[in-house]
Amino acid sequence: MPELPEIETIKRSFVNLINSKVLRIEFNRYDIIRRSDFKPEELHGKPAEIIYRRGKYLVFNFGGHLNLIVHLGMSGRLYLMEDDQSVIGKHVHMIAYFNNHKKLIYQDARRFGGVWLINDVKGFFARLGKEPLEDDFNPQYLGDIIRNRKIPIKSLILDQHLISGIGNIYADEALFEAGIKPDRPAGSLSDLEIQRLCESIKNVLAHSIEQRGTTFRDYRDGFNQAGGFQNYLKVYGRHQQACVRCGKVISREVIGGRGSHFCCNCQR
Ligand SMILES: [Zn+2]
Repeated sequence: MPELPEIETIKRSFVNLINSKVLRIEFNRYDIIRRSDFKPEELHGKPAEIIYRRGKYLVFNFGGHLNLIVHLGMSGRLYLMEDDQSVIGKHVHMIAYFNNHKKLIYQDARRFGGVWLINDVKGFFARLGKEPLEDDFNPQYLGDIIRNRKIPIKSLILDQHLISGIGNIYADEALFEAGIKPDRPAGSLSDLEIQRLCESIKNVLAHSIEQRGTTFRDYRDGFNQAGGFQNYLKVYGRHQQACVRCGKVISREVIGGRGSHFCCNCQR
């Protein structure tokens, strides 16, 4: 599933789309539009003024209150093609043609994602948690949200209302970096562990962005190319392989309903 680093990478792929105008936008399936405050045709002739990421969402602002928001769900891809290239991929649900000879393709086999045509972005994101790479996500904030909580620390950092953008891959990797077992009750972390976890979350996300995200199965960047961070994963998807740090076998257990990978020896 695309998480923060993957959506950030896609966003950065689209820098040349800024100020390009939409010629037309076509939907092959209208049920991928999860909400529409305005008709898609209202975007025709409008330039993409700002493109930004919030959590695992990508926002295209076409001026004023015209926003097209995309979430890639489990298997979605969003990428640019030249306008004379033919679209051969299956499950293409939206094509937006721009006046810079590019077209933007939204493709999603499993359709857990979607498109929102939204006027009030602030309202749309009102319940979304803090951005983990921003300065206001710090040990103090992490300490505040975990205090007295009995749920596993992994479930807590996956809660999008508290921290936005972390999914299963980066939760497992950050907990390994911090030396904390994913099933530890959140409230049991010491101040030092909170500080280490906060740093690990930021480091793992930033390193993955440098490597253009993790391609485990479906994820592709905004040019439909695979990422590179799968080569740096230390626990995720590595169960029954040797821990890179101590050589013991990596475990996999279901914690909070999610398959979780960790080293019993390095994580306490
Ligand atoms: Zn280990």
